[in-house]
Formats: sequence, C-alpha cells, structure tokens
Amino acid sequence: MGLRIVMLGAPGAGKGTQAVRIAQRLQVPHISTGDIFRAHLKEGTEIGREVQQYLDAGRLVPDELTCTIVADRLQDPDCRNGYVLDGFPRSLPQAEALTKLLEERGGRIDMAININVPDEEIVERLTARRSCSECGKIFNMKFSPSANGDRCDAPGCHGMLERRTDDAEDTIRERLRVYHETTEPIIGYYDNQGILRTVPAAQTGPDGVFKKVEELLESAGAA
Ligand code: AMP
Repeated sequence: MGLRIVMLGAPGAGKGTQAVRIAQRLQVPHISTGDIFRAHLKEGTEIGREVQQYLDAGRLVPDELTCTIVADRLQDPDCRNGYVLDGFPRSLPQAEALTKLLEERGGRIDMAININVPDEEIVERLTARRSCSECGKIFNMKFSPSANGDRCDAPGCHGMLERRTDDAEDTIRERLRVYHETTEPIIGYYDNQGILRTVPAAQTGPDGVFKKVEELLESAGAA
C-alpha cells in the first residue's frame, strides 16, 4: 500500500498545485472535492444543482453530501495504492468521518501535509490565479504566468485561461474566514495523531515548496 495523504492549507496556499505534483511522483490519484463539484456544475448534474449555491458563496457544501462523494470515490480501484486528498477533509466532522470510514475498510491516513502561507499573501495570490479551461492547469499571473499569455502552455493544450468565479475578492475573504473557523481545527486533529507535517510556504514558488515536500516524502520512504 502506498501513501494516503491529506493536503491542508488555506485556499490559495498552493495545496492543489503540490497535490498534483505529489500524485504524479507517487503515481496515485489526485482527488480534489472542489474539482469534483466543479465537474458536476459544468455537466449540470443533480449534484451540481445542489452544490451551486455553496460554491458561488464560498461556503462549504454540507458534510453529508461531501463525505458520500468521497467515500464512493475512494472505493475506485485506482485508490488501492494510495491517493492524495485535496480540499477534503475541510471540517472536523469530515476528518472524523474519514478516519471512521478508513478504519472500517482497514486503513488510515498516513500523512497530513499542511502548506502554510500567511493571509495577506493569500489574497494577493488568489486575485492573480487563473486556470486552464481545457486541462485545469493552474497559473498565477504574477508568480507563475503562462508562457503563452492568456492561453495555456501545457504541451498539446492551448486552452483559454480563466478566473474561477469564486476567486473574486469578496468571496476570497469569505473562504478565508470559513477556513480559519472550520478547517484550521483539522491541523490540531492530525497533529494529535502524530502525522502532521507543516511546510512553510510564504514567498516561495511551487518549485521551492515541492523541494520541501519531496524531503517529507523521502523521509516517509515514498519517493
Ligand atoms: P476548492 O477548489 O477546494 O477551493 O473548493 C471550491 C469550493 O467547493 C469550496 O469553496 C466549497 O464550496 C466546495 N468544497 C470543496 N471541498 C469541500 C469540502 N471538503 N467540504 C465542503 N465543501 C467543499
């Protein structure tokens, strides 16, 4: 069994970017609840209609629906060798539900990686964030712009870069508030289990942060 990793950090701390890199390095799936919800929205499914109001307002989708979606996803065969969870758990009840679910299936989370960036820097980063409408690659117009201007520079992709609708400044502040109130307590939860690893990421680009993450993975014998 490979590593089962949970990514922690404020919205915009760069945990999604790191999650994708870790998943590639370990050859395990990257599971982002935000991506799953946005895919439902785009496809106009029943779940999409249900979650739209929450995403638009930057509030959390109810735990029950979120946990059901994750429980289903973790049963897919590609999760047998580990996975990187990104954006879940996001509340203590979700973290507890995850622990219980994995216990029932004879497993547990091996490492919680906390990407730590101060609030002031978060607002600055998120207003400059763009993602590719085709492949989802994430850019920052200030710190890591696309080589192709407002189009994606991933090999074979030329998608238009767009701003997420919830990356408007008001919504960012609401998401940060929700993060401190609801999500931050999870850091203590995993610390108590002895599996928390915090990566200081202020004023550090994706490559610099990944170097530190790689050291963690190596110390866990995974990379
Ligand atoms: P993200 O892409 O992780 O920033 O998620 C975007 C939005 O999806 C969040 O602002 C929430 O509305 C919703 N969302 C994502 N993950 C969760 C979760 N674990 N629990 C509740 N809502 C979530």
